Amino acid sequence: MTTKPDTTADTTPATLADWRRRAADVRPRDGIFVDGAFRPAESGATFDSVNPATGDVIASVASGQDVDVDHAVSSARRAFDDGGWSRSSIGDRKRVLLRLAALVEEHRVELALLDSMDMGKLVNEAFTVDVPSAAALFAYYGEALDKINGEIAPTEPGNLALVTREPLGVVGAVTPWNFPLDLAVWKVAPALAVGNSVVLKPSERAPLSSLRLAELAIEAGLPSGVFNVVPGLGHTAGAALGLHAGVDVLAFTGSTATGKQFLRYAADSNLKQVWLECGGKSPNLVFADADLDEAIDKALFGAFYNQGAVCSSNSRLLVQKSIADSFVTELVARAAAMRPGNPLDPTAAQGAIVDAAHADHVMGFVERARAHGEVRAGGRRIDGGCFIEPTVVTGLGATDELITDEVFGPVLAVQTFDDQDEAIRLANSTVYGLAASVWTSDLRRAHTVAAALRAGTVSVNTVDALSAQTPFGGFKQSGFGRDLSLHALDKYTGLKTTWIAL
Ligand code: NAD
Repeated sequence: MTTKPDTTADTTPATLADWRRRAADVRPRDGIFVDGAFRPAESGATFDSVNPATGDVIASVASGQDVDVDHAVSSARRAFDDGGWSRSSIGDRKRVLLRLAALVEEHRVELALLDSMDMGKLVNEAFTVDVPSAAALFAYYGEALDKINGEIAPTEPGNLALVTREPLGVVGAVTPWNFPLDLAVWKVAPALAVGNSVVLKPSERAPLSSLRLAELAIEAGLPSGVFNVVPGLGHTAGAALGLHAGVDVLAFTGSTATGKQFLRYAADSNLKQVWLECGGKSPNLVFADADLDEAIDKALFGAFYNQGAVCSSNSRLLVQKSIADSFVTELVARAAAMRPGNPLDPTAAQGAIVDAAHADHVMGFVERARAHGEVRAGGRRIDGGCFIEPTVVTGLGATDELITDEVFGPVLAVQTFDDQDEAIRLANSTVYGLAASVWTSDLRRAHTVAAALRAGTVSVNTVDALSAQTPFGGFKQSGFGRDLSLHALDKYTGLKTTWIAL
Protein backbone atom coordinates (compact mmCIF):
# COMPACT_ATOMS: atom_id res chain seq x y z
CA MET A 1 0.00 0.00 0.00
CA THR A 2 1.35 3.46 -0.80
CA THR A 3 0.22 6.83 0.40
CA LYS A 4 0.31 10.14 -1.37
CA PRO A 5 3.52 11.98 -0.49
CA ASP A 6 3.10 15.13 1.55
CA THR A 7 4.27 17.32 -1.32
CA THR A 8 3.96 20.54 0.65
CA ALA A 9 6.09 19.27 3.54
CA ASP A 10 8.80 21.69 2.55
CA THR A 11 6.53 24.70 3.03
CA THR A 12 6.32 24.94 6.78
CA PRO A 13 3.04 26.49 7.89
CA ALA A 14 3.82 29.68 9.75
CA THR A 15 0.48 31.30 10.53
CA LEU A 16 -2.94 30.33 11.81
CA ALA A 17 -4.26 30.69 8.26
CA ASP A 18 -1.55 28.32 6.95
CA TRP A 19 -2.34 25.70 9.58
CA ARG A 20 -6.09 26.02 8.94
CA ARG A 21 -5.53 25.46 5.24
CA ARG A 22 -3.43 22.38 5.90
CA ALA A 23 -5.93 21.09 8.48
CA ALA A 24 -8.67 21.18 5.85
CA ASP A 25 -6.68 18.61 3.81
CA VAL A 26 -6.25 16.10 6.65
CA ARG A 27 -8.22 12.87 6.18
CA PRO A 28 -8.09 10.85 9.41
CA ARG A 29 -7.97 7.06 9.11
CA ASP A 30 -10.75 5.54 11.17
CA GLY A 31 -10.51 1.75 10.91
CA ILE A 32 -8.85 -1.03 12.87
CA PHE A 33 -5.48 -1.79 11.30
CA VAL A 34 -4.94 -5.55 11.11
CA ASP A 35 -2.75 -7.51 8.73
CA GLY A 36 -1.74 -4.43 6.81
CA ALA A 37 -5.22 -3.05 6.08
CA PHE A 38 -8.01 -1.06 7.69
CA ARG A 39 -11.31 -2.72 8.56
CA PRO A 40 -14.36 -1.77 10.60
CA ALA A 41 -14.99 -3.32 14.01
CA GLU A 42 -16.75 -6.68 13.69
CA SER A 43 -19.62 -5.23 15.74
CA GLY A 44 -19.75 -2.09 13.61
CA ALA A 45 -19.29 -0.01 16.79
CA THR A 46 -17.58 3.36 16.55
CA PHE A 47 -16.65 6.23 18.84
CA ASP A 48 -16.26 9.87 17.91
CA SER A 49 -12.99 11.72 17.86
CA VAL A 50 -13.89 15.29 18.79
CA ASN A 51 -11.60 18.29 18.33
CA PRO A 52 -11.71 19.87 21.82
CA ALA A 53 -10.83 23.30 20.45
CA THR A 54 -13.86 23.46 18.15
CA GLY A 55 -16.25 20.71 19.28
CA ASP A 56 -16.21 19.29 15.73
CA VAL A 57 -16.34 15.52 15.22
CA ILE A 58 -13.26 14.86 13.11
CA ALA A 59 -13.63 11.09 12.76
CA SER A 60 -15.93 8.26 13.71
CA VAL A 61 -13.41 5.63 14.70
CA ALA A 62 -13.95 1.85 14.77
CA SER A 63 -14.29 0.72 18.37
CA GLY A 64 -12.42 -2.56 18.79
CA GLN A 65 -13.88 -5.31 20.99
CA ASP A 66 -12.61 -8.74 22.09
CA VAL A 67 -13.02 -10.26 18.65
CA ASP A 68 -11.10 -7.45 16.95
CA VAL A 69 -8.28 -7.73 19.48
CA ASP A 70 -8.28 -11.45 18.83
CA HIS A 71 -7.86 -10.89 15.07
CA ALA A 72 -5.02 -8.44 15.70
CA VAL A 73 -3.20 -10.77 18.11
CA SER A 74 -3.60 -13.70 15.68
CA SER A 75 -2.24 -11.57 12.86
CA ALA A 76 0.72 -10.50 15.02
CA ARG A 77 1.40 -14.10 16.03
CA ARG A 78 1.26 -15.37 12.45
CA ALA A 79 3.66 -12.64 11.37
CA PHE A 80 6.02 -13.45 14.24
CA ASP A 81 6.00 -17.20 13.56
CA ASP A 82 6.39 -16.66 9.85
CA GLY A 83 9.76 -14.99 10.56
CA GLY A 84 9.48 -12.37 7.81
CA TRP A 85 10.36 -9.75 10.43
CA SER A 86 11.33 -11.64 13.57
CA ARG A 87 14.05 -13.64 11.77
CA SER A 88 14.87 -11.11 9.07
CA SER A 89 18.41 -9.81 8.69
CA ILE A 90 19.45 -6.96 10.91
CA GLY A 91 20.25 -4.97 7.79
CA ASP A 92 16.67 -5.34 6.53
CA ARG A 93 15.18 -4.33 9.86
CA LYS A 94 17.45 -1.34 10.08
CA ARG A 95 16.50 -0.17 6.57
CA VAL A 96 12.79 -0.39 7.35
CA LEU A 97 13.06 1.54 10.62
CA LEU A 98 15.20 4.25 9.03
CA ARG A 99 12.75 4.49 6.13
CA LEU A 100 9.91 4.79 8.63
CA ALA A 101 11.80 7.57 10.43
CA ALA A 102 12.09 9.40 7.11
CA LEU A 103 8.38 8.92 6.35
CA VAL A 104 7.37 10.29 9.75
CA GLU A 105 9.49 13.39 9.00
CA GLU A 106 7.97 13.64 5.53
CA HIS A 107 4.45 13.61 6.97
CA ARG A 108 5.31 15.94 9.80
CA VAL A 109 2.59 18.50 9.09
CA GLU A 110 -0.14 15.88 8.83
CA LEU A 111 0.93 13.98 11.96
CA ALA A 112 1.23 17.20 13.98
CA LEU A 113 -2.24 18.24 12.88
CA LEU A 114 -3.74 14.84 13.70
CA ASP A 115 -2.48 15.03 17.30
CA SER A 116 -3.41 18.69 17.70
CA MET A 117 -6.94 18.27 16.34
CA ASP A 118 -7.46 15.01 18.23
CA MET A 119 -6.48 16.21 21.71
CA GLY A 120 -5.95 19.98 21.68
CA LYS A 121 -2.18 20.36 21.95
CA LEU A 122 -0.48 23.29 20.24
CA VAL A 123 0.21 22.23 16.68
CA ASN A 124 3.47 24.12 16.73
CA GLU A 125 4.73 22.00 19.63
CA ALA A 126 3.61 18.80 17.93
CA PHE A 127 5.37 19.95 14.77
CA THR A 128 8.63 21.05 16.38
CA VAL A 129 8.88 18.52 19.22
CA ASP A 130 6.58 15.50 19.08
CA VAL A 131 6.84 14.47 15.44
CA PRO A 132 10.60 15.04 15.01
CA SER A 133 11.18 13.14 18.27
CA ALA A 134 9.10 10.21 17.02
CA ALA A 135 11.07 10.13 13.76
CA ALA A 136 14.37 10.35 15.65
CA LEU A 137 13.37 7.46 17.89
CA PHE A 138 12.73 5.13 14.96
CA ALA A 139 16.16 6.12 13.66
CA TYR A 140 17.74 5.60 17.10
CA TYR A 141 16.43 2.04 17.47
CA GLY A 142 17.07 1.31 13.79
CA GLU A 143 20.70 2.27 14.34
CA ALA A 144 20.89 0.45 17.68
CA LEU A 145 19.70 -2.96 16.59
CA ASP A 146 23.00 -4.07 15.04
CA LYS A 147 25.02 -3.02 18.06
CA ILE A 148 23.51 -5.32 20.66
CA ASN A 149 25.93 -8.05 21.63
CA GLY A 150 25.31 -11.27 23.47
CA GLU A 151 27.53 -12.67 26.25
CA ILE A 152 29.68 -15.69 26.89
CA ALA A 153 29.41 -16.53 30.57
CA PRO A 154 32.40 -17.84 32.54
CA THR A 155 32.07 -21.64 32.94
CA GLU A 156 34.16 -24.59 34.07
CA PRO A 157 36.54 -25.92 31.35
CA GLY A 158 34.82 -28.02 28.69
CA ASN A 159 31.69 -25.91 28.57
CA LEU A 160 30.45 -22.93 26.59
CA ALA A 161 27.51 -20.88 27.85
CA LEU A 162 26.05 -18.36 25.42
CA VAL A 163 23.67 -15.69 26.67
CA THR A 164 21.55 -14.18 23.90
CA ARG A 165 18.58 -11.85 23.69
CA GLU A 166 15.45 -13.15 21.98
CA PRO A 167 12.37 -11.22 20.91
CA LEU A 168 9.43 -12.14 23.15
CA GLY A 169 6.80 -12.56 20.43
CA VAL A 170 3.61 -10.50 20.53
CA VAL A 171 3.87 -7.19 22.36
CA GLY A 172 0.66 -5.48 23.46
CA ALA A 173 1.07 -1.72 23.89
CA VAL A 174 -1.53 0.47 25.58
CA THR A 175 -0.93 4.21 25.49
CA PRO A 176 -2.41 7.48 26.79
CA TRP A 177 -3.57 10.63 25.02
CA ASN A 178 -1.14 13.34 26.10
CA PHE A 179 1.65 12.70 23.55
CA PRO A 180 -0.27 10.29 21.32
CA LEU A 181 2.32 9.75 18.59
CA ASP A 182 5.42 9.93 20.76
CA LEU A 183 4.30 7.59 23.51
CA ALA A 184 3.18 5.02 20.96
CA VAL A 185 6.60 5.21 19.30
CA TRP A 186 8.35 4.89 22.70
CA LYS A 187 6.89 1.34 22.78
CA VAL A 188 6.59 0.40 19.13
CA ALA A 189 10.10 1.40 17.96
CA PRO A 190 12.17 -0.67 20.44
CA ALA A 191 9.69 -3.58 20.31
CA LEU A 192 9.94 -3.79 16.51
CA ALA A 193 13.70 -3.19 16.44
CA VAL A 194 14.39 -6.47 18.23
CA GLY A 195 11.96 -8.46 16.06
CA ASN A 196 8.67 -8.56 17.93
CA SER A 197 5.19 -8.10 16.47
CA VAL A 198 3.04 -5.40 18.08
CA VAL A 199 -0.64 -4.79 18.78
CA LEU A 200 -1.12 -1.16 19.84
CA LYS A 201 -4.26 0.05 21.63
CA PRO A 202 -4.01 3.86 21.59
CA SER A 203 -6.11 6.06 23.83
CA GLU A 204 -9.69 6.49 22.65
CA ARG A 205 -9.11 10.21 23.26
CA ALA A 206 -6.38 10.41 20.59
CA PRO A 207 -6.06 7.38 18.28
CA LEU A 208 -5.58 9.11 14.92
CA SER A 209 -1.81 9.51 14.68
CA SER A 210 -1.27 5.85 15.65
CA LEU A 211 -3.55 4.74 12.81
CA ARG A 212 -1.63 6.83 10.31
CA LEU A 213 1.66 5.54 11.70
CA ALA A 214 0.58 1.95 11.03
CA GLU A 215 -0.04 2.79 7.40
CA LEU A 216 3.33 4.54 7.10
CA ALA A 217 5.03 1.47 8.59
CA ILE A 218 3.68 -0.66 5.73
CA GLU A 219 4.89 1.93 3.25
CA ALA A 220 8.31 1.73 4.89
CA GLY A 221 8.41 -2.00 4.18
CA LEU A 222 7.27 -3.57 7.46
CA PRO A 223 5.58 -6.89 6.60
CA SER A 224 1.81 -7.01 7.08
CA GLY A 225 0.70 -8.22 10.49
CA VAL A 226 3.85 -7.13 12.32
CA PHE A 227 2.28 -3.88 13.54
CA ASN A 228 -1.45 -3.74 14.22
CA VAL A 229 -3.50 -0.95 15.79
CA VAL A 230 -6.83 -1.54 17.52
CA PRO A 231 -8.52 1.70 18.55
CA GLY A 232 -11.15 1.25 21.22
CA LEU A 233 -12.20 1.95 24.76
CA GLY A 234 -10.16 0.97 27.78
CA HIS A 235 -12.61 -1.41 29.41
CA THR A 236 -13.25 -3.23 26.11
CA ALA A 237 -10.26 -3.19 23.73
CA GLY A 238 -7.72 -2.37 26.48
CA ALA A 239 -8.99 -5.09 28.79
CA ALA A 240 -9.15 -7.62 25.94
CA LEU A 241 -5.48 -7.00 25.15
CA GLY A 242 -4.49 -7.14 28.82
CA LEU A 243 -6.31 -10.46 29.26
CA HIS A 244 -5.31 -12.05 25.94
CA ALA A 245 -3.47 -15.34 26.27
CA GLY A 246 -1.63 -14.71 23.00
CA VAL A 247 0.13 -11.58 24.23
CA ASP A 248 3.61 -12.22 25.64
CA VAL A 249 4.35 -8.81 27.07
CA LEU A 250 2.18 -5.80 27.79
CA ALA A 251 3.78 -2.36 27.83
CA PHE A 252 1.51 0.24 29.36
CA THR A 253 1.64 4.00 29.79
CA GLY A 254 -1.24 5.67 31.61
CA SER A 255 -2.63 6.30 35.05
CA THR A 256 -1.56 4.36 38.12
CA ALA A 257 -5.10 3.03 38.65
CA THR A 258 -5.21 1.54 35.15
CA GLY A 259 -1.65 0.24 35.52
CA LYS A 260 -2.74 -1.78 38.57
CA GLN A 261 -5.56 -3.19 36.47
CA PHE A 262 -3.03 -4.52 33.95
CA LEU A 263 -1.19 -6.40 36.69
CA ARG A 264 -4.51 -8.03 37.57
CA TYR A 265 -5.18 -8.90 33.91
CA ALA A 266 -1.81 -10.65 33.71
CA ALA A 267 -2.48 -12.61 36.90
CA ASP A 268 -5.94 -13.59 35.65
CA SER A 269 -4.68 -14.74 32.24
CA ASN A 270 -1.31 -16.00 31.08
CA LEU A 271 1.16 -14.28 33.42
CA LYS A 272 2.33 -12.09 30.56
CA GLN A 273 5.10 -9.70 31.47
CA VAL A 274 3.73 -6.27 32.31
CA TRP A 275 5.70 -3.03 32.19
CA LEU A 276 4.11 0.04 33.73
CA GLU A 277 4.83 3.74 33.18
CA CYS A 278 2.26 5.52 35.31
CA GLY A 279 1.35 8.86 36.86
CA GLY A 280 3.31 11.43 38.80
CA LYS A 281 3.21 14.45 41.10
CA SER A 282 6.68 15.69 40.45
CA PRO A 283 8.26 18.31 42.74
CA ASN A 284 10.37 21.26 41.60
CA LEU A 285 12.64 22.47 44.43
CA VAL A 286 13.92 26.05 44.24
CA PHE A 287 16.64 27.05 46.72
CA ALA A 288 17.42 30.70 47.45
CA ASP A 289 20.86 30.45 45.81
CA ALA A 290 19.44 29.52 42.37
CA ASP A 291 19.22 31.60 39.19
CA LEU A 292 15.72 32.72 40.08
CA ASP A 293 14.77 34.36 36.81
CA GLU A 294 15.43 31.17 34.86
CA ALA A 295 13.87 29.08 37.62
CA ILE A 296 10.60 31.03 37.24
CA ASP A 297 10.49 30.55 33.47
CA LYS A 298 11.23 26.86 33.71
CA ALA A 299 8.79 26.35 36.60
CA LEU A 300 6.04 27.68 34.32
CA PHE A 301 7.21 25.49 31.46
CA GLY A 302 7.44 22.47 33.77
CA ALA A 303 3.92 22.97 35.09
CA PHE A 304 2.02 24.17 32.02
CA TYR A 305 3.66 22.62 28.95
CA ASN A 306 1.06 20.64 26.99
CA GLN A 307 -1.64 22.18 29.26
CA GLY A 308 -0.04 20.40 32.20
CA ALA A 309 -0.84 17.02 30.66
CA VAL A 310 2.66 15.64 31.11
CA CYS A 311 3.25 12.61 33.33
CA SER A 312 6.43 14.22 34.67
CA SER A 313 4.91 17.72 34.88
CA ASN A 314 6.43 19.70 37.77
CA SER A 315 3.01 20.15 39.36
CA ARG A 316 4.39 20.89 42.85
CA LEU A 317 6.65 23.89 43.29
CA LEU A 318 8.65 23.95 46.55
CA VAL A 319 10.28 27.33 47.20
CA GLN A 320 12.65 28.25 50.01
CA LYS A 321 10.82 30.58 52.40
CA SER A 322 13.39 33.38 52.31
CA ILE A 323 12.62 34.08 48.62
CA ALA A 324 9.08 32.71 48.38
CA ASP A 325 7.12 35.99 48.38
CA SER A 326 9.00 37.69 45.56
CA PHE A 327 9.43 34.44 43.58
CA VAL A 328 5.72 33.61 43.69
CA THR A 329 4.65 37.18 42.90
CA GLU A 330 6.73 37.15 39.72
CA LEU A 331 5.66 33.59 38.84
CA VAL A 332 2.00 34.54 39.15
CA ALA A 333 2.48 37.60 36.91
CA ARG A 334 4.14 35.51 34.20
CA ALA A 335 1.53 32.72 34.49
CA ALA A 336 -1.26 35.23 33.91
CA ALA A 337 0.32 36.12 30.54
CA MET A 338 0.14 32.50 29.29
CA ARG A 339 -3.29 32.72 27.66
CA PRO A 340 -4.76 29.60 26.08
CA GLY A 341 -5.81 30.00 22.47
CA ASN A 342 -6.54 28.19 19.22
CA PRO A 343 -4.11 25.22 19.12
CA LEU A 344 -3.49 25.94 15.44
CA ASP A 345 -2.37 29.50 16.23
CA PRO A 346 1.44 29.62 16.49
CA THR A 347 1.14 32.62 18.83
CA ALA A 348 -1.05 30.83 21.43
CA ALA A 349 0.74 30.04 24.70
CA GLN A 350 -1.53 27.11 25.64
CA GLY A 351 -3.83 24.76 23.76
CA ALA A 352 -7.08 23.05 24.71
CA ILE A 353 -7.79 20.41 27.37
CA VAL A 354 -8.40 17.02 25.72
CA ASP A 355 -12.18 16.98 26.26
CA ALA A 356 -15.00 18.45 28.32
CA ALA A 357 -14.96 15.58 30.83
CA HIS A 358 -11.28 16.13 31.59
CA ALA A 359 -11.80 19.91 31.76
CA ASP A 360 -14.53 19.24 34.38
CA HIS A 361 -12.14 16.96 36.25
CA VAL A 362 -9.39 19.62 36.31
CA MET A 363 -11.80 22.38 37.36
CA GLY A 364 -13.04 20.15 40.18
CA PHE A 365 -9.54 20.24 41.70
CA VAL A 366 -9.39 24.03 41.30
CA GLU A 367 -12.78 24.64 42.91
CA ARG A 368 -12.10 22.32 45.85
CA ALA A 369 -8.68 23.92 46.39
CA ARG A 370 -10.35 27.29 47.08
CA ALA A 371 -11.54 25.92 50.45
CA HIS A 372 -7.99 25.60 51.83
CA GLY A 373 -5.71 27.52 49.50
CA GLU A 374 -5.55 30.73 47.53
CA VAL A 375 -5.85 30.74 43.73
CA ARG A 376 -3.23 33.33 42.80
CA ALA A 377 -3.36 33.00 38.99
CA GLY A 378 -5.90 31.62 36.53
CA GLY A 379 -8.50 29.29 37.99
CA ARG A 380 -11.04 29.89 35.25
CA ARG A 381 -12.43 27.93 32.36
CA ILE A 382 -12.76 30.13 29.30
CA ASP A 383 -16.31 30.42 27.88
CA GLY A 384 -17.32 27.08 29.39
CA GLY A 385 -15.23 25.29 26.74
CA CYS A 386 -12.11 23.13 26.91
CA PHE A 387 -9.69 25.96 27.69
CA ILE A 388 -8.42 26.49 31.24
CA GLU A 389 -6.16 29.32 32.35
CA PRO A 390 -2.80 28.31 33.82
CA THR A 391 -3.56 28.19 37.52
CA VAL A 392 -1.31 28.76 40.53
CA VAL A 393 -2.51 27.84 44.03
CA THR A 394 -0.70 28.68 47.28
CA GLY A 395 -1.33 28.08 50.97
CA LEU A 396 -2.28 24.38 50.84
CA GLY A 397 -1.54 21.82 53.56
CA ALA A 398 0.55 18.69 53.08
CA THR A 399 -2.52 16.44 52.87
CA ASP A 400 -4.56 18.57 50.47
CA GLU A 401 -5.38 16.69 47.28
CA LEU A 402 -3.59 19.22 45.07
CA ILE A 403 -0.39 18.28 46.89
CA THR A 404 -0.93 14.53 46.85
CA ASP A 405 -2.94 13.72 43.70
CA GLU A 406 -2.17 13.98 40.01
CA VAL A 407 -4.39 16.52 38.21
CA PHE A 408 -2.97 16.16 34.69
CA GLY A 409 -3.94 19.72 33.85
CA PRO A 410 -2.59 23.29 34.12
CA VAL A 411 -2.66 23.56 37.90
CA LEU A 412 0.47 24.30 39.93
CA ALA A 413 0.48 23.90 43.73
CA VAL A 414 3.11 25.96 45.58
CA GLN A 415 4.60 24.98 48.94
CA THR A 416 7.43 26.55 50.93
CA PHE A 417 10.28 25.06 52.99
CA ASP A 418 12.84 26.31 55.48
CA ASP A 419 15.84 24.10 54.78
CA GLN A 420 17.20 21.25 52.67
CA ASP A 421 15.92 18.48 54.93
CA GLU A 422 12.39 19.82 54.88
CA ALA A 423 12.56 20.26 51.10
CA ILE A 424 13.56 16.61 50.61
CA ARG A 425 10.91 15.38 53.04
CA LEU A 426 8.13 17.31 51.29
CA ALA A 427 9.40 16.33 47.84
CA ASN A 428 9.34 12.62 48.68
CA SER A 429 5.98 12.73 50.46
CA THR A 430 3.69 11.42 47.68
CA VAL A 431 3.10 7.88 46.42
CA TYR A 432 4.68 8.88 43.10
CA GLY A 433 8.34 8.98 42.04
CA LEU A 434 8.55 9.83 38.37
CA ALA A 435 10.61 13.02 38.17
CA ALA A 436 11.94 15.92 40.24
CA SER A 437 13.87 19.14 39.66
CA VAL A 438 16.35 20.99 41.85
CA TRP A 439 17.45 24.60 41.41
CA THR A 440 20.63 25.67 43.21
CA SER A 441 24.06 27.09 42.41
CA ASP A 442 25.70 24.99 45.12
CA LEU A 443 27.24 21.87 43.56
CA ARG A 444 27.30 19.96 46.83
CA ARG A 445 23.62 20.69 47.46
CA ALA A 446 22.72 19.70 43.89
CA HIS A 447 24.29 16.27 44.30
CA THR A 448 23.07 15.70 47.85
CA VAL A 449 19.47 16.60 47.07
CA ALA A 450 19.45 14.74 43.74
CA ALA A 451 20.67 11.60 45.50
CA ALA A 452 17.99 11.90 48.20
CA LEU A 453 15.05 12.34 45.82
CA ARG A 454 13.05 9.21 45.01
CA ALA A 455 12.48 9.89 41.33
CA GLY A 456 13.34 8.15 38.06
CA THR A 457 14.74 11.38 36.62
CA VAL A 458 16.17 14.29 38.61
CA SER A 459 16.83 17.46 36.59
CA VAL A 460 19.27 19.97 38.09
CA ASN A 461 18.88 23.62 37.07
CA THR A 462 16.36 22.64 34.41
CA VAL A 463 13.05 20.81 34.36
CA ASP A 464 11.90 17.55 32.90
CA ALA A 465 15.08 16.69 31.04
CA LEU A 466 14.83 13.69 28.73
CA SER A 467 16.39 12.32 25.56
CA ALA A 468 16.28 9.24 23.36
CA GLN A 469 19.57 8.16 24.94
CA THR A 470 18.48 8.25 28.61
CA PRO A 471 16.01 5.94 30.36
CA PHE A 472 12.67 7.41 31.41
CA GLY A 473 10.44 5.87 34.06
CA GLY A 474 9.53 5.95 37.69
CA PHE A 475 9.93 4.72 41.22
CA LYS A 476 7.11 3.90 43.64
CA GLN A 477 3.61 4.07 42.13
CA SER A 478 4.86 5.86 39.03
CA GLY A 479 5.68 2.39 37.71
CA PHE A 480 8.83 0.42 37.06
CA GLY A 481 9.33 0.15 33.31
CA ARG A 482 11.89 2.25 31.49
CA ASP A 483 11.16 3.76 28.10
CA LEU A 484 13.79 5.27 25.78
CA SER A 485 17.51 4.43 25.63
CA LEU A 486 19.00 0.97 25.14
CA HIS A 487 17.51 -0.03 28.51
CA ALA A 488 14.03 -0.08 26.94
CA LEU A 489 15.15 -3.10 24.91
CA ASP A 490 15.17 -5.11 28.14
CA LYS A 491 11.39 -5.01 28.13
CA TYR A 492 11.06 -6.52 24.68
CA THR A 493 13.68 -9.26 24.84
CA GLY A 494 14.18 -12.35 26.96
CA LEU A 495 17.60 -13.65 27.95
CA LYS A 496 18.32 -17.15 26.68
CA THR A 497 21.19 -19.32 27.87
CA THR A 498 22.48 -21.93 25.44
CA TRP A 499 24.82 -24.31 27.27
CA ILE A 500 27.15 -26.47 25.20
CA ALA A 501 29.08 -29.32 26.82
CA LEU A 502 32.13 -29.50 24.59
P1 NAD B 1 -5.62 6.07 31.44
O1 NAD B 1 -5.03 5.17 32.45
O2 NAD B 1 -7.02 6.51 31.61
O3 NAD B 1 -5.59 5.39 29.99
C1 NAD B 1 -4.39 4.90 29.44
C2 NAD B 1 -4.72 3.81 28.45
O4 NAD B 1 -5.30 2.72 29.17
C3 NAD B 1 -5.73 4.22 27.38
O5 NAD B 1 -5.40 3.60 26.15
C4 NAD B 1 -7.04 3.65 27.91
O6 NAD B 1 -7.99 3.36 26.92
C5 NAD B 1 -6.57 2.39 28.61
N1 NAD B 1 -7.46 1.96 29.68
C6 NAD B 1 -8.17 2.76 30.52
N2 NAD B 1 -8.88 2.00 31.39
C7 NAD B 1 -8.61 0.71 31.10
C8 NAD B 1 -9.03 -0.53 31.64
N3 NAD B 1 -9.89 -0.61 32.66
N4 NAD B 1 -8.54 -1.66 31.09
C9 NAD B 1 -7.66 -1.61 30.06
N5 NAD B 1 -7.25 -0.46 29.50
C10 NAD B 1 -7.70 0.69 30.01
O7 NAD B 1 -4.64 7.31 31.28
P2 NAD B 1 -4.79 8.59 30.36
O8 NAD B 1 -5.81 9.51 30.93
O9 NAD B 1 -4.90 8.19 28.93
O10 NAD B 1 -3.34 9.23 30.53
C11 NAD B 1 -2.99 9.98 31.62
C12 NAD B 1 -2.13 9.19 32.59
O11 NAD B 1 -1.00 8.67 31.92
C13 NAD B 1 -1.58 10.08 33.69
O12 NAD B 1 -1.68 9.40 34.91
C14 NAD B 1 -0.12 10.25 33.29
O13 NAD B 1 0.74 10.57 34.34
C15 NAD B 1 0.17 8.93 32.68
N6 NAD B 1 1.34 9.01 31.83
C16 NAD B 1 2.49 8.39 32.23
C17 NAD B 1 3.65 8.48 31.45
C18 NAD B 1 4.93 7.83 31.87
O14 NAD B 1 5.81 7.67 31.03
N7 NAD B 1 5.08 7.43 33.11
C19 NAD B 1 3.61 9.20 30.24
C20 NAD B 1 2.41 9.80 29.87
C21 NAD B 1 1.28 9.70 30.66
